[in-house]
Amino acid sequence: MNAEFSARLKANIKKAGEYLKPISESGIRHLIDGEAVASISGATFDNASPIDNEIFCQVARGDKADIDRAAKAAAKAFPDWRAKPGKTRRDILHAIANKIEEHSEEIALLESVDSGQAIRFMQKAAIRGAENFRFFADKAPETANGLSLPTDGQMNYTIRASIGPVGIITPWNTPFMLSTWKIAPALAAGCTIVHKPAEWSPVTATLLAKLCHDAGLPPGVLNLVHGIGEEAGVALTRHPDIKAIAFIGESATGSAIMAQGAATLKRVHFELGGKNPCIVFADADLERALDAAIFMIYSLNGERCTSSSRVLIEKSIYPEFTERLAERARNIRCGHPLDPDTWLGPLIHPRHLEKVTSYFDLARQEGADILAGGKTPPTPPSPGNYVEATLFANANSGMRIASEEIFGPVLTAIPFEDEADALRIANDVRYGLAAYIWTSDVGRALRMSAAVEAGMVWVNSENVRHLPAPFGGVKQSGIGRDGGDYSFDFYMETKNIALATGTHRIPKIGA
Ligand code: NAD
Repeated sequence: MNAEFSARLKANIKKAGEYLKPISESGIRHLIDGEAVASISGATFDNASPIDNEIFCQVARGDKADIDRAAKAAAKAFPDWRAKPGKTRRDILHAIANKIEEHSEEIALLESVDSGQAIRFMQKAAIRGAENFRFFADKAPETANGLSLPTDGQMNYTIRASIGPVGIITPWNTPFMLSTWKIAPALAAGCTIVHKPAEWSPVTATLLAKLCHDAGLPPGVLNLVHGIGEEAGVALTRHPDIKAIAFIGESATGSAIMAQGAATLKRVHFELGGKNPCIVFADADLERALDAAIFMIYSLNGERCTSSSRVLIEKSIYPEFTERLAERARNIRCGHPLDPDTWLGPLIHPRHLEKVTSYFDLARQEGADILAGGKTPPTPPSPGNYVEATLFANANSGMRIASEEIFGPVLTAIPFEDEADALRIANDVRYGLAAYIWTSDVGRALRMSAAVEAGMVWVNSENVRHLPAPFGGVKQSGIGRDGGDYSFDFYMETKNIALATGTHRIPKIGA
């Protein structure tokens, strides 16, 4: 570490400490009906930082009673919020974006401390959160828009109306950005919200709710209840006042939520796990493919749903390409997440570290080679959950390391023979979130894109998001799409209205 970075790291630790002080002193509370409140039971849980696994704050532990209080507040606030002119909602969402921008340094530092993600990425995530609000703010005035569907003698037209109070449940990887991605369209659509963030990273969701209120969001429109998935999460998915659940998390949790919401007929939107293929053909721009494959697995600690966790490489270039991947991976040093030079910070929790490292033994048992990493660093920058950038090679799609979501900086390289073989391997998993295809053959790019089982395909590119484009997965990677107008299909009901344009014949029964 050179002196300049050391000074910048020290400065960030100092600044983060200042932001953390009030949180550590007073703990984190729910935000219900515009008020910061403790749990009705008075219960709390510990929150630790992945940097050293030291507890730095207490968090209110919500249960059924707190969820009920929040859902009732959301139900009470719904008629007024729904009735607000779209332009009013737009202005409030822009005011929230302004607040996020004003507090972007605080958000980035707190997110880094709470989630272990490197500060360089969290600075962008805070700004991206503001962009999400601005994008959906501008859409707010047009959310009710529908279609005109004329037919002989009838004018059919559709309008959309907010579905009602919704539950939003988010995970611990990039928690701030993902919360904005769900909350902004729901608010634009006129829904009120009960948000249950992940228990391993509760800090920035609390800050977001506060900023929303500081920006003028009326009380009860966005309510925040902290707690454990099996307690607060379950209660939210079962609550009769909550009309829909937007969930980001593991596929198994998605299944549980579907069952929990069945009795109250919840509409669900799921963004779930992935084991996304990055398919590299020999005719690709290999330098760019290398950069993208590395970026998509070793950024954000590999705790990224769209990570390129499987790289499928054409046999003729397999030895050289995997060696180049390994060389790069070996160069990626784990660092303190507040060091501006760090690419790979500590994983979220010791339990997650245990899960990720369990795949190292499994890789050996399954007969794969470990070309890089495969261990925790011998001299970590702090006593946290660090793991080296890891590359498994000579894997095949029958192996668990090639089919299960590891959700860490762990890449599995699999050779393929030809296009048909690449497609077979790519589709041989239960997931179908994203796929990355690298080739200079346009026909092949089109054929592969159409046939690969994924909700999103990037050709000759890493994941570059365009907010109007649909985001979501197929198979066990999700149900529904977010982004642009797609988000409103979920947060709103479509109503059809048919108007007779003349005096068509109506059957006269009993006349
Ligand atoms: P998780 O499913 O364990 O938890 C997510 C949230 O669900 C947390 O808030 C948790 O408290 C809550 N929860 C847990 N059990 C619940 C239950 N029975 N009822 C209601 N809520 C419950 O997921 P995680 O470990 O926090 O996040 C990692 C997962 O998220 C990975 O699988 C990743 O791929 C996925 N993810 C997907 C996307 C996407 O867009 N597809 C984006 C980010 C993360």
